[in-house]
Amino acid sequence: MSDDEAVEEYLFKIVIIGDSAVGKSNLLTRYARNEFNAHSKATIGVEFQTQSVEIDGKDVKAQIWDTAGQERFRAVTSAYYRGAFGALLVYDISRRATFDNVARWLDELNLARMLVGNKCDLENIREVTLEEGKSLAEAEGLFFIETSALDSTNVRTAFEIVIREIYNNVS
Ligand code: GDP
Ligand code: MG
Repeated sequence: MSDDEAVEEYLFKIVIIGDSAVGKSNLLTRYARNEFNAHSKATIGVEFQTQSVEIDGKDVKAQIWDTAGQERFRAVTSAYYRGAFGALLVYDISRRATFDNVARWLDELNLARMLVGNKCDLENIREVTLEEGKSLAEAEGLFFIETSALDSTNVRTAFEIVIREIYNNVS
């Protein structure tokens, strides 16, 4: 390929939102670095990771932003959402309160959205059924998936469905 030949590039900002301690940071570290931290603490400030995905032979980069403890104070600012093309809205299948709060998070968004029921490894203390997650997603017009950042179930798929959906919308 010659130097002056245009190379199509895509860079999408994606945000991860949801209540505190649902596993947002661990989903991101599992996806971006294949790491899990059993004792993760809320970080200060906003952090993001950039991941590349090949779609239709094109290099698609996702800049994935992680809220850093702001969720506790419902202080996620508009700056966090600004320029975002998509979002993963995460709840914890073992804590119903985090599922009940999904509607409040939805009010703040208008993007390609994936509803994520995380910690599906905690089957023994499950409080939200798979069916409930599916029904809510259907009612709200969201994609839906259950994940585990702990054992890696569906983590890559969750992010890449959103990235592909954004790509399909813009290409
Ligand atoms: P955040 O506040 O939403 O960013 O949540 P964190 O990623 O900091 O996770 C909160 C707690 O849940 C930590 O103790 C994690 O180790 C734990 N955790 C995160 N994801 C999972 C998961 O998929 N399964 C289980 N069992 N624990 C998880
Ligand atoms: Mg976090």
